[in-house]
Amino acid sequence: MAVKPLDLVGVIRGYMIETQVYCEAKLHYMITSRGEEARVTEGEARRLVEETLRLLRTPRGRGIEFLRAPISARLNDAYITLSPDAIVYVDGSIAGLLEARIRGDLRYYDSDFVTLEVGGLLLEELLGVELGTLKLVLIVARSREGLREALEETNVNPFKPERRMSWVRVTRVYNRGESISKLSHLLEYWLGMRGFKPRPSPFKCRVCEYSSMCPARVMNA
Ligand code: SF4
Repeated sequence: MAVKPLDLVGVIRGYMIETQVYCEAKLHYMITSRGEEARVTEGEARRLVEETLRLLRTPRGRGIEFLRAPISARLNDAYITLSPDAIVYVDGSIAGLLEARIRGDLRYYDSDFVTLEVGGLLLEELLGVELGTLKLVLIVARSREGLREALEETNVNPFKPERRMSWVRVTRVYNRGESISKLSHLLEYWLGMRGFKPRPSPFKCRVCEYSSMCPARVMNA
C-alpha cells in the first residue's frame, strides 16, 4: 500500500499548508525529497497538543494581550501544528488570530488567511466551543519599519481595518463552515484519498526549486 503523505511528516505544519495552497505539487516534492529525520513521532505530536492545552488553560488578564505560541491539535486523524504571529486575547478570552507579512506591494491573497482559518478550527477542537466571533487579522507591511509601526497601532486597535502608506491591516470574521470545507479538501491529499494537484503559473514555476522534476511546470518558466 502506498505511504500516505501524512505518514512522511507525522505532523502537518503551518508552512506546509501554505505551500499546499500555493502549489500542492511543490509541497509533495518537498516532503517526499526529505530524509526520515523530518518525521515527528506520535508521542511528540501528542506532547505538542498537551503544551497547547496548557497554554490555553493559563488564566489571562484584562485588556488586550498578544500571545505568541504554537497551536497544535488532532483533527480528522491528522496532527496539525501552526504558529500564528499572535493569539489575541481581550479581557482574558481568545478574540482573534493574527498573521503578519512583509511585501513591498502591500498585496494580500486568500491563501494568506488559510493558516488563520485552520487555526480557528484547531482552537475550537481544543476548547470544545465554537468561536463564531473570532477575528482573523492579516497585517501586510512594506518593510520591517512599516511592520513595527503597524504592530504598535495593532496593540491599541487589533481588529480595525486600516490602510496606511506603509502597511495595511485586513480583518475577517472566522467562518467555521468555510474553514471545514477548505481543510477537508487539503486533508484528502494528506490522508492519501487523492493525488496532489499542481497549481502552476509562470512566476511560481520560474522560481520553483522542483521545476526540473515537475512535468506540470509552465514550459516558458
Ligand atoms: S514547477 Fe510549478 S507546478 Fe511544478 S511544483 Fe513548482 S510551482 Fe508547482
